[in-house]
Amino acid sequence: MAETVELPSRLAILPFRNKVLLPGAIIRIRCTSHSSVTLVEQELWQKEEKGLIGILPVRDDAEGSSIGTMINHGAGSDSGERSLKFLVGTTDAQKSDAKDQQDLQWHTRGVAARALHLSRGVEKPSGRVTYVVVLEGLSRFNVQELGKRGPYSVARITSLEMTKAELEQVQQDPDFVALSRQFKTTAMELVSVLEQKQKTGGRTKVLLETVPIHKLADIFVASFEMSFEEQLSMLDSVDLKVRLSKATELVDRHLQSIRVAEKITQKVEGQLSKSQKEYLLRQQMRAIKEELGDNDDDEDDVAALERKMQAAGMPSNIWKHAQRELRRLKKMQPQQPGYNSSRVYLELLADLPWEKASEEHELDLKAAKERLDSDHYGLAKVKQRIIEYLAVRKLKPDARGPVLCFVGPPGVGKTSLASSIAAALGRKFVRLSLGGVKDEADIRGHRRTYIGSMPGRLIDGLKRVGVCNPVMLLDEIDKTGSDVRGDPASALLEVLDPEQNKSFNDHYLNVPYDLSKVVFVATANRVQPIPPPLLDRMELIELPGYTQEEKLKIAMRHLIPRVLDQHGLSSEFLKIPEAMVKNIIQRYTREAGVRSLERNLAALARAAAVMVAEHEQTLPLSKDVQKLTSPLLNGRMAEGGEVEMEVIPMGVNDHEIGGTFQSPSALVVDETMLEKILGPPRFDDSEAADRVASAGVSVGLVWTTFGGEVQFVEATSMVGKGEMHLTGQLGDVIKESAQLALTWVRARASDFKLALAGDMNVLDGRDIHIHFPAGAVPKDGPSAGVTLVTALVSLFSQKRVRADTAMTGEMTLRGLVLPVGGIKDKILAAHRYGIKRVILPQRNSKDLVEVPAAVLSSLEVILAKRMEDVLENAFEGGCPWRNNHSKL
Ligand code: ADP
Repeated sequence: MAETVELPSRLAILPFRNKVLLPGAIIRIRCTSHSSVTLVEQELWQKEEKGLIGILPVRDDAEGSSIGTMINHGAGSDSGERSLKFLVGTTDAQKSDAKDQQDLQWHTRGVAARALHLSRGVEKPSGRVTYVVVLEGLSRFNVQELGKRGPYSVARITSLEMTKAELEQVQQDPDFVALSRQFKTTAMELVSVLEQKQKTGGRTKVLLETVPIHKLADIFVASFEMSFEEQLSMLDSVDLKVRLSKATELVDRHLQSIRVAEKITQKVEGQLSKSQKEYLLRQQMRAIKEELGDNDDDEDDVAALERKMQAAGMPSNIWKHAQRELRRLKKMQPQQPGYNSSRVYLELLADLPWEKASEEHELDLKAAKERLDSDHYGLAKVKQRIIEYLAVRKLKPDARGPVLCFVGPPGVGKTSLASSIAAALGRKFVRLSLGGVKDEADIRGHRRTYIGSMPGRLIDGLKRVGVCNPVMLLDEIDKTGSDVRGDPASALLEVLDPEQNKSFNDHYLNVPYDLSKVVFVATANRVQPIPPPLLDRMELIELPGYTQEEKLKIAMRHLIPRVLDQHGLSSEFLKIPEAMVKNIIQRYTREAGVRSLERNLAALARAAAVMVAEHEQTLPLSKDVQKLTSPLLNGRMAEGGEVEMEVIPMGVNDHEIGGTFQSPSALVVDETMLEKILGPPRFDDSEAADRVASAGVSVGLVWTTFGGEVQFVEATSMVGKGEMHLTGQLGDVIKESAQLALTWVRARASDFKLALAGDMNVLDGRDIHIHFPAGAVPKDGPSAGVTLVTALVSLFSQKRVRADTAMTGEMTLRGLVLPVGGIKDKILAAHRYGIKRVILPQRNSKDLVEVPAAVLSSLEVILAKRMEDVLENAFEGGCPWRNNHSKL
C-alpha cells in the first residue's frame, strides 16, 4: 500500500487522455508515442531506482467542461483564476505530437505515480521501441507551471497531501467520523452485493478493514468503471470530507446501477424460459429478412465462428460443450447481456491450439550445441546440462524429466538460453512473466460469472503462440507471492506436475486443457523464495554472473554485432574499440549480468544512427550510406511519419559530431564521445577509499537479487543515554545481528582498551547510530555480523578500516565466525568494485572452487575462524587494540 512520499518540486508529466489515475490504483499502460517513450526512457528506464512521474488528465475534445480547471495547452490561454504559463519550443521532430496537443486541455491537478514494473519491447520489423509500465498512483498534486523537457512535459508542482498533523486533526472532526461511517456502510453493501454475484470471498472486505479511510475512498472508487467527469471530480476532491462524501455518492450510484442491471437480467431470463416461442419468432424473423434481402452480419459472424470451431480440432467432450454454448449464443440477441461474453468465450475455444503443434523434427544434438555456442559465450557447464536435457528428450520424447530452472541475477542470459532451447527443439517460444503475480486468478483465470473475466496467463499464452507444444518460459517464478487473493504457487504446481497437467483447469475456460505437450522452463533470481513443493519439481541451474573479462568477450562477440544490427548499422559505420568497452564495463556499469552494458552499447548505436541519418539528409547519398536498409532509418526519413527513434539523452551537438562524420570512414568511439553520449562515468574504484575515509565505516559483502553487492556499514556515536539506533530499512535478523555485535564489542571493551580513559562502559553517556546506506533498499540476513563488529571497533578505537578489504560472515555471541551463502557472487562483486582483499568465514573455503580462477588470483582471500581474526586483518597494521596494548 502506498506510504506517504515526499514529492519533488518538479515532475515529468505523462498525459492521460480522458482518463484519471487515482491514488492507490494500479494500472498498466503501453507507451508507443515518441513523447511518452522518451519520457519513460529518460525518467524511469535509465534511472537505477524506480522513479516518480506525474499523471495529468487531459481532455482531448475541444468542447471543454465545467468541472475543474483545465489548462489550454496549445493556445496558452489561462483559464480560471490560476495563471499557468506554458513554455514550449517545439522542434520539427515533435511536430505530430505538438499538433495533437493543440486541442488538449490539461487538468490542473494530477497524481504522482511510481513505476512498479517496466518492460521494454522492440516491435519487429520496424524496430520501434515501446514500453509497458505498471504504475501505482501515490498522491495528488497541483500544477503550478507547465513546461517542456525535450519532447515531453514537465511541471512545477505542489503536493496536495495532508500532513500527519492535519490528518490527525481531521480524524477528530465529528463530521468526518460520520462521513466515514456512512462511506463504510455503503461500501460494505456494495461488497456484499458483489460477493453474492461472484463468490469472490472476503478479499475486498479485508481491504475495507485494513486500509486507512482516506486512502480507501480513492482505491474503492478507482476499482469500478466511471465516466471521465466522475473520475475528475474524485481527483478534485482534495478536502477529505468532500472526498468521502463524493466517494459515498459514487459507490452508491454504482450499487444502484448493479441492482437495476440485475433486474433487467432477471426479466430477460424470464423471457428466455419461453425460448421455444422465441426460437420460432426468430426463425420467422430470419425468413422475413431473407425475403427482404437484408444482410445479417451477425448471423454471418456466428457461422464463421462455427466454422472456426470445427477447424480447431477440439477433443470430443469439449466439442460437445462448445456446441451447447454455441446453441445458447444462437438463441440470443446481440444486444442481450451475456451475448458478448458468450461470444468472446467461444472465440477463445476456437482459437486455442487443441491439436495444432509445431512439427517435431528429429533433434540434431550437434546443431543444438552449435546454436547454443553461437548465441552464448562461455557457460560451458550450463550448456552441457542443456545438451544432456535435450539428449534425454531425444531418446524419450515424452520423458517426464524435471523442469529446468535457470537461477541468477538479471542479464546473465537466462531468457536467451531458454529461447535457444526452443530453437534447438524446433518449437515456438512463449514467455510468461510471473513477476508480481499474487493472485491465483492470474494463473488460473476468473470464472465467467465475474464481469470482465479473462482466462489465466497460461491459457492466454497458449492462445498467443497458437501451438499446443511450445517451450514456455515461466519467467521470475520466485517473484510470485501469495496473499488474500489465493496462492499462485499451488496453481503453478499443478501446471508443472505431469500427473495433473494433462487436464489443467482454467476457471474461465471451464473445460480441461492438456498441458502435457508443453515444455516448461523457468527462471528465478533467487532460490529462497520459491516454495519447496515447486522447487521439488525443478532442476536448478545456476548462472552466477560474469567477470569483467567474460563481459568483455560477450560484448565484443555477441552484444556489439547484435546492437549494431538492431540499429541498422554495421561495423563499417561504428567501431567500438575493446578499450572503450572495458571503460563502459568498469566505469558505467556495476552489475552481475550484461543488461546495463547492452543498454549503454545501444545508446552509442542510437547516437551513431542519428549521425548517419542526419549525414544522409545533408549529403548526397554515398555508396556506403545506401547500404543502410534498416526499416528504422527509413522510418525516420519518411516525411510526416511518426518519428520513432529515441532522442539521445545527453544532447549530442550535431555540428561537432557531424563534422567527425564528414569522412566516409567509420565512426570510432573514443573517450570524449563516450562521455558526451553516456554522460560522466558513474563509478570509479576510489569509491571504497572515499567512503572509509573516517573511522566507524566498514565494507561488507552482501547478496541480493541482483547478485553480489558491496555494502558499507556506518557507525557513529553521540551524546545520549546508551541507546542504539538502526536505520536503512533493516529486517529483524540484521537488527539482531547489530545487537549481537554491540554486545560482543561491549563485553570486550576493556580487553581491547576501547573504553575511554577511566570509564569502563563504551556506551556511558553515548548513543550509537548504525546506518546501512542505500537507505531505500530493504536489507536483511545474518551475513553482516562481522562487518558490524568491525564498524563498531573502528568507531570506538577511532581507527580507520582498510579500504581495500571487504568482509562477510555471521558471528556468534562467543565470537565464532559462521559460514554464509552466495560466496561466489560476493567475490565477483568485490572484484567489480576493485577490492583487493576479502575476509571470509573459514568454513566457506569449500565454496572457493566455484570462483573463476582469474578472479581469485586478483584477490587475497583471508579465512577467519574467530572475530579476532577478522579484526586483525581489517585494520592497517593489525587489530587496533594491539596497538593500544603496546603503548601501555
Ligand atoms: P536474463 O533473462 O538472465 O535477465 P537475458 O537472457 O535477457 O537475461 O540476457 C540479457 C542480454 O544479455 C541478452 O541480450 C542476452 O543475449 C545477453 N547475454 C547474456 N549472457 C550472454 C552470454 N553468455 N553470451 C552472449 N550474450 C549473452
